[in-house]
Amino acid sequence: MEPQKEARTCRDLGERPPAAKSQTPKEEGRRESGAAPVVAALGEEVGSASVEGLWDLPVEPSDRRPECSRCSRPQKVCLCPFLPVHPLHISTHLYIVQHPAEESRVLRTVPLLAACLPQDKCRVKIGRRFSEERDPELSMVCRKSGTLILYPGAEAANLEEFVLDSPIYPSTIIIIDGTWSQAKDIFYKNSLFRLPKQVQLKSSISSQYVIRMQPTNRCLSTLECAAVALSILEKNNYIQETLLRPLQALCSFQLQHGARIRLSKEHLLKNGLYPKSMPKNKRKLRKMELLMSSVKI
Ligand SMILES: [Zn+2]
Repeated sequence: MEPQKEARTCRDLGERPPAAKSQTPKEEGRRESGAAPVVAALGEEVGSASVEGLWDLPVEPSDRRPECSRCSRPQKVCLCPFLPVHPLHISTHLYIVQHPAEESRVLRTVPLLAACLPQDKCRVKIGRRFSEERDPELSMVCRKSGTLILYPGAEAANLEEFVLDSPIYPSTIIIIDGTWSQAKDIFYKNSLFRLPKQVQLKSSISSQYVIRMQPTNRCLSTLECAAVALSILEKNNYIQETLLRPLQALCSFQLQHGARIRLSKEHLLKNGLYPKSMPKNKRKLRKMELLMSSVKI
């Protein structure tokens, strides 16, 4: 979930601006795990006074590797064999509100999700701020009584229970795609997103997206949230299995090519393995302490 200058739909996913990409899956895994770009690291060492040598550094080719038009993965590591032959038949409309930074990540899961679903049932809106003027379609969706937004919190109902009790069967669900702080910013700074009924997942499944660090053991990636939520709304577990298959294949491929399993921040903190110093900011420190003291489910 990330900031979007303008709203776009999943049909536009194939038209992303070129982003610097690494050349091998191994490199891709490293990049995803947060390795600093070479130039940034050198910049710190040499200081601003002697940047001349930097001109001699090899420049990453700007042309992207050819991408598969269906799964948006580089063609050599296309995940289409793990996608359903035909898009899944669902009646729920899914809106992914994606932070713009998420769009340029090397290992994105939303294109995989979109590739499994009918185009008219999965819309991706990219941006940080949404309003009636900027996105009348999303605005209308937020005002409909059958629309839910998946965002955890004290106000949020358990989706499974809500579905059983609700007099109006939900027709649409909105999921925010981004880091936890980006999602929080999008949820709280857009009054539109306070209109739909807020729901959360009380699922016991652990994230299988093991190559990207999640804050806690129970945090799920956007694709996993969508898989669980849609299987509840459609009352069909096959949906969850089918949507998770390409994610499992992606992780298994990356792990075979040098990516590391990214344990959750919660796991690292609780086991004294957190590699960075604790934050000085009191609010951030309190959050880390809460993570450490949280009870595992
Ligand atoms: Zn493909």
